[in-house]
Order: sequence, then C-alpha cells, then structure tokens
Amino acid sequence: MQRKRQPAEPYRIKSVEPIKLLTRKQREERIKQAAYNVFRLDATDIYIDLLTDSGTAAMSNRQWAALMMGDETYAGATSFRRFESVVKDLTRKNFVVPCHQGRSAENLFFSTILKKGDYVPNNTHFDTTRANTLHKGGIAVDFPCEASNTDEYVSFKGNMDVEALEQFIHEKGADKIPVIVMTVTNNSIGGQPVSMKNIKDVSALCKQHHIPFFFDCARFAENSYFIKRDEPGYADKSIRDIAHEMFEQCDGVMMSAKKDGLANIGGFIAVNDEDLYRRLTELLIIVEGFMTYGGLAGRDLEVLAVGLEEVLEFDYLDFRVEQVRYFGERIKEAGIPIVEPIGGHAVFADAGKFLSHIPAEQFPGQTLTVALYLEGGVRAVEIGSLMFGGEDPNTGEKLTARRELVRMAVPRRVYTNSHLDYVADAAARIAEAKDKLGGYKITRQAAFLRHFTCEMEQLAPSGIGVEMK
Ligand SMILES: *Cc1c(COP(=O)(O)O)cnc(C)c1O
Repeated sequence: MQRKRQPAEPYRIKSVEPIKLLTRKQREERIKQAAYNVFRLDATDIYIDLLTDSGTAAMSNRQWAALMMGDETYAGATSFRRFESVVKDLTRKNFVVPCHQGRSAENLFFSTILKKGDYVPNNTHFDTTRANTLHKGGIAVDFPCEASNTDEYVSFKGNMDVEALEQFIHEKGADKIPVIVMTVTNNSIGGQPVSMKNIKDVSALCKQHHIPFFFDCARFAENSYFIKRDEPGYADKSIRDIAHEMFEQCDGVMMSAKKDGLANIGGFIAVNDEDLYRRLTELLIIVEGFMTYGGLAGRDLEVLAVGLEEVLEFDYLDFRVEQVRYFGERIKEAGIPIVEPIGGHAVFADAGKFLSHIPAEQFPGQTLTVALYLEGGVRAVEIGSLMFGGEDPNTGEKLTARRELVRMAVPRRVYTNSHLDYVADAAARIAEAKDKLGGYKITRQAAFLRHFTCEMEQLAPSGIGVEMK
C-alpha cells in the first residue's frame, strides 16, 4: 500500500509529563525482579508504555476546563444531564445508564438479560465481555468472518460471518439467544473495523428473528473513520453522520468510554427499551451508584461529555488512525511481521512468525515483549499462549492460542511519531539479533487470567543477554 502523506498532530502541547529511560543494567535488574512479567513492572521502570489504549488518553484543554464544572450533586446533577444529552444524541437512544467502565456495563447488562444456558453471539468477544457472559451462565460464541483467520489484506476484517450466524439461529432457536452483540472495532482480532453493510445485514437478521441487537462500541469513532475511508458511498459523509447511521441499526449499546471517550475512566449503557432501562437501573443502584452518576464523579461525566464530541473530529481521527498505521509500517520495515491490515488502536506483531525457532510452549510473544523492554524500555503485551494457553480450570482441557502475537497499543494523543520511531528502531535492533533470543517457562501461575501475575524464567539459550549497543 502506498504511504500517503503522514498528517502532523492536530494539537500542540500545553502540559508535559517527563518520562525517563533507565539504563540497560537497571532494566535488566527490574525485569528480573518482575519475574519477566511486564505487568509486574512499575510506571517508573518504563520509557514508552504501549500496554493498552484504555484509560490512557491525554485530555484536551476543553476537557480540563469542563472538569472544573463538575457538579457533584448526588441525584440529578447538571453534569449527568450534559453527559446524558451527548450520549442520547450520539447513540440515538432514549435512556442512558452511566457506569464506571466497560466491564461494569457488561455486568449490569448480562446480569439483567441472561438466563443460564443462553447463547450470546458476537463477531468476537472481548475478554471481559466473554468473562461476564460466562459468569452469568451464558455461552459466548464468536462469529468472525473467514478472512479474520488469514493474512489476507482485506478491508473490514472485523465483520461478522452473517451466514454462520443465521445457521446458528436456526439451529439453537431465537428464544435461546437474548441478544446478538457486535464489537466495533473488533478489538480481539486486532482492532479491525466492521463495515456499515455488515452492521445492516446483522441488524436485518436480528429484526427478522426478533433478537435485540447491541453494540460493544468502545471504538465506535475509529470504526466510523474506517467506514468513511474504505466503504463505498461514505467518503463524503461526516464522522458524526456515519456514527449516527451505525447506531440507528442497533437496539442498544455498551461502551467502555476509556477508549473513544478520550477519558481516563467511564462507561455507559444506552437503550430504547424503557422496561430494560428500569431493570438495569434497579441493579445499577445496588452495584454502581445512583442512576445519575453510576460510579463516576460529576467531573468525570463532564470530561466524557466533551470527549465523546471531540472524538468525532475528522482531523483527530485522521491523525490517530494514520499514526497507528505509520507505526505499523515502521515495525514491518524493522523486520518484524505484523497483522494486516493495521487496525485502529494497536499494532500486533506476529511473534510466532518472527521467532519461528521458539515453540509456542516457550512463548515467543513473551520473548519479543521482554526484548522490547530490555532494548528500549518499551512495554507491550503478549497475546498468545501465555495469555490464552494452559489448562481450562473447569475441564482440565489443554488450551492453545490461535496465534503468538504481541500487541503494541497506542494511547490517544499521548505519544508523538518520534516516540514511535524510537520504538521501531529498538524493534529493528531486536530483529538483527533475533536468532540469539530464547524462550521462557512459567514457574508460578494462577488458575484464571494467569498472564497478569505469573512468574517466569528464561530458558537457555538465554534470550535476555542479547548484546546490543
Ligand atoms: C476495553 C473493552 C471492554 C472493557 O472495558 P473496561 O473499561 O476495560 O472495563 C469491553 N469491550 C471492548 C471491546 C473493549 O475494548
């Protein structure tokens, strides 16, 4: 793909936060103390943090100003009314349930609508969405499109497989499926977007079978940008109009506003069904807070009301998505294969391909993750056999990851292209020495979500001592 002119940041810097690179020797000590698990590192150990794009955005001057307008009234705060009106207008829904982040929205929603043994189809479940579905006795089923499993360069790889979904509905019966969820963008398979056509096809199928259709829409604005850029007929539409058209296709949404809310905390559910809204708020008041703040401070609601508007600005999104693409191209040029096309919020390095001499049981993704820290003080995250492998704690069945990936997520408005160039340069030095890198073994782990806390050791030949200048 031809590289078009890289847009420069559509903002200037008013406040800075110093970051510091520890020496190589200090980094070696720190990662060893952390048992080679980057989740065990402290912020001060890290120079460039690409662990996640969640809750890590930089706020604008308008958001900081709005924060001072926070009305901390318990019930009926003006801050909630502002937030509510922005969310209602954006999502085209009548009722808004605020909550403190995405997974609390999932908890409320699935607790309210699921019965034991119900199925929940999704293009691809995000891990907390899957966990919340399972936790309430539901069965989470993914329907990614065929291309999602391949290296094929196609647009809208986040799409749902409508045919497979239709067959599933016929097999199980619509009464066993209380909701169908579309994740926009499709986070788990690389931040890949979903097309408007696919959204409309799934929406029509849901209507035909009287199944409610919901979005898990943490990155709705990035998805709207991809529709404008790549889907025929949308080039001249505004991001806001595209977002409205998307939201008009669904019955309700859950959002982790820590992503496209451009805020550090927050989430919500928005629905049209008044009875569902009543049931959601009954539980909300028990587990999150009153219906006009839902676990958030008034100032957070103000910040979100501004963030959800700013995120629709074309210049912001154009820079954002192009910056991630630029970064991905640089990583590829550095000699590390990546998942393509590059998604909206992160670059996924294919460590399985890159370190083909390291078997999956020795965690090639972890090898690359540790190498990035040692070489550049960069924190990425393994998304492979360390995260998804091991044994099923319920059945004892051996689990395997589909691919050995390393995610480098790009926080919004935080790093400049020179920071990302720095990461790509570190990646290039790792690529030169890749044959010297070895794998890892786990020495201690928990039964669930082991990657967060497990301890590891390097296997010989040592991957760690790559002597690089
Ligand atoms: C982040 C995310 C969630 C969970 O949100 P939290 O705010 O982290 O609890 C749910 N779904 C998707 C698609 C996400 O990206």
